[in-house]
Amino acid sequence: MIFQQISQAPADPILGLTEAFKKDPRQEKVNLGVGVYKDESGLTPVLKSVKLAEAKLLDTETSKTYLGIDGVQLYNKVVQELLFGADSKIVKEGLAVTAQAPGGTGSLRIAAEFVVNNTNSKTIWVSKPTWANHQNIFAAAGLSIKEYGYYDAANQSLNFEAMVADLQQATTGDLVLLHGCCHNPSGIDLSAAQWTQIAQLCFAKQLVPLFDFAYQGFGDGVEEDALGLRTVAAVVPELLVANSFSKNFGLYNERIGAVTLVAQDAATAQKAFSQVKRTIRANYSNPPAHGGLIVSTVLTDPELKALWLEEVTTMRQRIAEMRQLFVDTLKAEGVEKDFSFICQQKGMFSFSGLNKAQVERLRDEFAIYIVGSGRISVAGMTKTNIPVICKAIAKVL
Ligand code: PMP
Repeated sequence: MIFQQISQAPADPILGLTEAFKKDPRQEKVNLGVGVYKDESGLTPVLKSVKLAEAKLLDTETSKTYLGIDGVQLYNKVVQELLFGADSKIVKEGLAVTAQAPGGTGSLRIAAEFVVNNTNSKTIWVSKPTWANHQNIFAAAGLSIKEYGYYDAANQSLNFEAMVADLQQATTGDLVLLHGCCHNPSGIDLSAAQWTQIAQLCFAKQLVPLFDFAYQGFGDGVEEDALGLRTVAAVVPELLVANSFSKNFGLYNERIGAVTLVAQDAATAQKAFSQVKRTIRANYSNPPAHGGLIVSTVLTDPELKALWLEEVTTMRQRIAEMRQLFVDTLKAEGVEKDFSFICQQKGMFSFSGLNKAQVERLRDEFAIYIVGSGRISVAGMTKTNIPVICKAIAKVL
């Protein structure tokens, strides 16, 4: 017998919270833990562009035979265009190779395992703090993890000096995990000038950026949000990208993302890519088709693409409105602390500055669920629940 010796795993800090939320019998409960977009009625509907693409697929799909190891070819092409721009040198000269993969998570795992198994690089630098699952994914792939300074809690801002100073300590070939936009959990991104500096630092120290790009379109816009990636890609000879369509297409449960490798020439890219494919083969053989077909159908049909862009804009603007309303309502509730920094943050999340004890009181006394670090999913706020949330926060502060 082998199973008796196994100890209980701790609950996942984010998904474990959703499990507890589901069990909570209180009617007025609010879940601001997991990063899922909710519309004004508190629902996470299927996008119209996605529904139309699915209708098209229902008509035209003739087989469910296996995809290749790297997935839908057309999907991989549109992913590259979305990341780097259709006219970019990287796309035109074939310096990038892309494999469809199951979500951002699957893409990160494949990227990490590929590096560990095929190169001398065994270390990844992640921001302090970062998305809780990064540590799990990279440790499981066999990378050792180091942290670079990022968030200045006292001033609710970016500690760029610490970021640069820490990355100066990195060794040639080390991976550097960079959040493409909408940093999770802080909501604080690099400025254009800071991206240029990080690009030059990575180039000078021969570090390999691994972009986690899970929120394209949720910051300033689909094209605008690619600025950091494109700035770095223009300077360094090699990088990796793990992107996801969970949020910007609302395709959470379809598990659709991609891993993209950029090399200094097309031949190197192709040779390295053969090992990415080998990594995929050993993990899940080939990806599920549906998500990739939806995204490629939408992005290659001008009308559907225009509709999708509109829908992403609606989601982005609603979150920005909720940030403002949250800050205004806290003020109206008599909260003295200045929360206006929340309006400057980008994407689904905000670091509220609430401490563990306050987070626990919110859950126990008011049925409001947020992550222990004080990270709030603004994307889960609505005009209806904001007054409830702000009243409760006013009480626990
Ligand atoms: N990276 C970051 C920073 C994220 O926040 C998420 C989702 N919460 C992911 C990657 C992975 O997304 P998924 O695997 O659901 O596509």
